[in-house]
Amino acid sequence: MSKKAIGKIIIIVAPSGSGKSTLLTRLKSDFPMLRESVSYTTRTKRPGEEHGIHYFFVSKDEFLKMRDQNEFLEWALVHGDYKATSRAFVKSHLDRGTPLIFDLDVQGADYFKKEFKDQAKVIFIAPPSLEELEKRLRHRNTESEEAIQVRLKNANAELDRMFDYDFHIMNDDIDRAYKELSSIVTEILEN
Ligand code: ADP
Repeated sequence: MSKKAIGKIIIIVAPSGSGKSTLLTRLKSDFPMLRESVSYTTRTKRPGEEHGIHYFFVSKDEFLKMRDQNEFLEWALVHGDYKATSRAFVKSHLDRGTPLIFDLDVQGADYFKKEFKDQAKVIFIAPPSLEELEKRLRHRNTESEEAIQVRLKNANAELDRMFDYDFHIMNDDIDRAYKELSSIVTEILEN
């Protein structure tokens, strides 16, 4: 008899610069069954982005209306734009047994844990140290000095929460960290 399809929820939380994008790119290619949530956003569509594929693009008024009608599982104001996860989108995939993967901040992860309890597993990825994080952010060369300072301040607060979650990985060496991540994901999907 087949097991009742219950979609798993995997949430990756990591301070900016800790290697989340690098690790997620590898993970998504090795685990193509993991479906990413399509978020709602009030930011302007960038070239190449498609409504319903990359994001659901809505106006601020539409967004606030949906938020007030409790249509979002979590929402946040990020750099002046609203972003949210749709309750209906997540529910429809979970009902079909599709495993979902999310990339959230600590606040978003906390909302999910509250709503889905053990059905949601949170994996926290940490840099070896704040000094190393700063070095990687500078080396990546994608942010202004001001943005780097904001990210470092946020990272400091996020790292305090590291041990509150289901799993944590130290991204010291990228291959070692990825091995650990993929075995945690395999374990979550198999149980
Ligand atoms: P995030 O998505 O968490 O902001 P990225 O994946 O963009 O982080 O990684 C930040 C920078 O650090 C990138 O330039 C990336 O190549 C580098 N990086 C990631 N993991 C490691 C590692 N284990 N050792 C050294 N550099 C790393």
